[in-house]
Amino acid sequence: MSDCIFCKIAEKKIPAKIVYEDELVFAFEDMNPQAPVHILVIPKKHIATLLEVSEEDFQIFGHMMKTSTRIAREKGIAGKGFRVITNCNPEGGQVVYHVHQHILGGRQLRGTLG
Ligand code: AMP
Ligand code: ZN
Repeated sequence: MSDCIFCKIAEKKIPAKIVYEDELVFAFEDMNPQAPVHILVIPKKHIATLLEVSEEDFQIFGHMMKTSTRIAREKGIAGKGFRVITNCNPEGGQVVYHVHQHILGGRQLRGTLG
């Protein structure tokens, strides 16, 4: 989608600190980290929110989850613990309307959102 910031990141039209990429997903460091490790995993396909993840897209979403655990291991936070979050719609705290998973770790996370 042309005016979507995360589509532009996945297309490398705007810069990001890339962590991982394959044919389905893209991962990059959050520009405003809330923990020592804060990485975003997005599908390359534009999907606005969790609610728009269709039956066929669940393969992509599963691959995003697999990617998140892989990155957590690679960043050395898997054993101690980490969190994977998807915010949905305004009261869920979603700001960017291209579905994404936050990987958070590297410190003790507290409450629901740390
Ligand atoms: P959410 O509130 O779940 O929609 O999360 C959006 C996240 O995207 C926030 O944590 C922002 O810091 C992050 N973000 C927004 N724009 C960029 C960008 N250009 N590069 C990296 N992270 C970004
Ligand atoms: Zn997009």
